Amino acid sequence: MKVYISADIEGVTGVTTWKETELGHAEHAAAKLQMTKEVLAACEAATECGAAEIVVKDAHDTAKNLLAEMLPDNVTLIRGWTNTPESMMAGIDESFDAAIFIGYHSGAGCNGNPLSHTMNTINNYVKINGKRSAEFDLNAYIAAYYKVPVVFLSGDAQLCRHAEELVPAIRSVGVKKGVGSATFNMSCAKACRLIREGVKDGLLHREECSLQSPAQFEMEINYKECADALRASFYPGAKQLDERTVTFTGKDIQEIMTAQLFIL
Ligand SMILES: [Zn+2]
Repeated sequence: MKVYISADIEGVTGVTTWKETELGHAEHAAAKLQMTKEVLAACEAATECGAAEIVVKDAHDTAKNLLAEMLPDNVTLIRGWTNTPESMMAGIDESFDAAIFIGYHSGAGCNGNPLSHTMNTINNYVKINGKRSAEFDLNAYIAAYYKVPVVFLSGDAQLCRHAEELVPAIRSVGVKKGVGSATFNMSCAKACRLIREGVKDGLLHREECSLQSPAQFEMEINYKECADALRASFYPGAKQLDERTVTFTGKDIQEIMTAQLFIL
């Protein structure tokens, strides 16, 4: 079995402020350690379930957060950015048996995480086919594009509920709840324990976790600044709805992710 893991940091237990997510900042040390422990828990669970090969994409900001020395031998760690449409899912293809998301966060405009955003902080929201979307949605559709089941997610509790609307059988662990600028967090050890159990359960039930891609994708982006909407409106095929809003329609998630490379 071959397993793909995409790891972010804003949905790791304890992480509450931007400083904690910033490479080089003193407060980043505890966050990257816990991010690594949560990824390690998922790797160990996958290995116990028979994963001979695991690819882990460090998918936050510099993509140099995870402590490589803590990861087991059967892991290939992807650091840095490929600048390809798969973005946070770089390296995934049809050879994988399951996709796992660790440390993910609610999308732009949601109160479920003080660090809620979708891809960056220049937008107020991103909608896919009329529904407000998180990075999880885009990345789950990338997995679906390669027919890889989306079996497990850990992150804030609001994102977990959101993910169940997209993939009803997904196993998830809401390691924290966001309220305003605060987070109510599970203990570090408990988060790892529940991730371990959840990943095993998800892998066991992976046939139930396939996601069907819609016939076409319409992405709507509402920007904070009119200037960004104007720039995006010049991307081939993009349409400007109003001073802050641009839409782009693609036949598949690859076209959407290619567009977002330039307009998000
Ligand atoms: Zn991030």
